[in-house]
Amino acid sequence: MSDHPSALSASSADVIVVGAGLAGLTCARDLHRHGLDVVILEARDRVGGRTYSVEIDGQTIELGGQFLGPGQDRAYALAADLGVSVFPTYGEGDHLVETAAGRVRRYRGTIPRLSPLALLDAAQAQARFERLARRIDTDAPWQSPGAVALDGQTLETWIRRTTWTRAGRRLFTMACQAVWSCQPSELSLLHALFYARSAGTLQQVIAVEGGAQQDRLDGGTHELAVRLARRLGDRVHLHLGTPVDRIVQDEHGVHVAAGDRTWRAAHVVVAIPPTLSGRITYQPPLPAARDGLTQRLPMGTVIKCMAVYPEPFWRSAGLSGQATSLRGPLSAVFDSSPRPGEPGILLGFVEGAEARFMTARPAHERRAAVLAQLAELFGPRAASPATYAEQDWGAEPFTRGAYSAVFPPGAWTQYGHALRPPAGRIHWAGAETAPRWYGYIEGAIRSGEAAAATITTS
Ligand SMILES: Cc1cc2nc3c(=O)[nH]c(=O)nc-3n(C[C@H](O)[C@H](O)[C@H](O)COP(=O)(O)OP(=O)(O)OC[C@H]3O[C@@H](n4cnc5c(N)ncnc54)[C@H](O)[C@@H]3O)c2cc1C
Repeated sequence: MSDHPSALSASSADVIVVGAGLAGLTCARDLHRHGLDVVILEARDRVGGRTYSVEIDGQTIELGGQFLGPGQDRAYALAADLGVSVFPTYGEGDHLVETAAGRVRRYRGTIPRLSPLALLDAAQAQARFERLARRIDTDAPWQSPGAVALDGQTLETWIRRTTWTRAGRRLFTMACQAVWSCQPSELSLLHALFYARSAGTLQQVIAVEGGAQQDRLDGGTHELAVRLARRLGDRVHLHLGTPVDRIVQDEHGVHVAAGDRTWRAAHVVVAIPPTLSGRITYQPPLPAARDGLTQRLPMGTVIKCMAVYPEPFWRSAGLSGQATSLRGPLSAVFDSSPRPGEPGILLGFVEGAEARFMTARPAHERRAAVLAQLAELFGPRAASPATYAEQDWGAEPFTRGAYSAVFPPGAWTQYGHALRPPAGRIHWAGAETAPRWYGYIEGAIRSGEAAAATITTS
């Protein structure tokens, strides 16, 4: 491809959107509503990005983002608009907690049955965390009071300083792995606080009822992307199997290339995770701060595991299907059955260091380890599902990890200012650019809407 846009012949549009996740699709929808011609270029052969379902034996299995909760207004509105109905995550009966020594205990409500000292310790740490989070400016975390000191330490160092029992530290650490799908040593305290504040509170992030895991969608969240794309129809030109590798801009416009194909427009919206946006070649090169940012934002590591049974047998044993483990490989388990309750589906997350260890193991060993743990938790019937499926998000070339990008120490305060501002005609969207509900479906939708508003009001 030539470096000079006007030397090229290409299909043209007013705006090109890179990525057909929920950010890119909502952005394209809003641009089109304003009468603009839009082309979407999507690397995969499907839409939806980190929302993804497969059909196995006529059953929808959700392998990506799945839950919604209070405060996620744009996501609920999108679901209503597209005719996708909401139902509560199953949570009746006893939850389970597995100690580091492998003992399984039942409990009700939100407080697991662990040593009272450990619970007290973790609770005081959470209370301190919530107090610190309240001071974070989610529009500009680097300008929050004490930002440099908060960003100069890992969440791990803070946990070590704040907790005083080993069990309390373990409990708080496990909650962190479940939220950020990495070890607390990998992320900045400022990022952890920002993330919680962007959702409201840490409690809202971790809770099921009243929190971010409260609700599910009939047919799964992937249905939002599928219906949105269908509704855009031929008014927006969606090209699947089109991984963008080069963006050239000058005073006349942008040229966006995928291999030997090129499209031309006045603006481009790059709606992909920051680290992947850093793998595109830009001409002229992006400002140093933007490139420095994308050098620093790795994704979390998660493998989502789904075991399907003829019925949710744990319910008749008085179990909710929700479990927390301090032992692993699964750190959290949920009842992921469809609304009618059959078949029964258990969803387990392998996160952070466990996921890095497990990804290197053969698939049959991974499956055996996951099912052995489900059997320890829910009894021998859990060892023999009718179907087992898993999605290793780090192995996906067009995601490279999940749930979202993780800011290490120093990244917000040194480079955060380069996250959202456009670079000339290049605009940024995606769940990682959202000041509210960063890393969530809600954040992705809000970011797409915000990028479209920037272009249509400029
Ligand atoms: C296992 C898992 C569980 C999760 N749980 C939840 C949850 O319960 N609730 C919640 O709200 N969120 C959850 N999330 C997060 C949520 O799914 C994401 O934040 C959201 O879907 C991100 O949307 P996005 O459009 O910003 O990015 P993405 O969905 O990542 O979309 C980016 C798109 O760009 C494409 N792309 C990448 N590179 C290129 C390129 N070079 N050229 C063209 N296209 C490209 C990708 O293929 C993809 O389709 C979860 C995610 C995962 C993976």
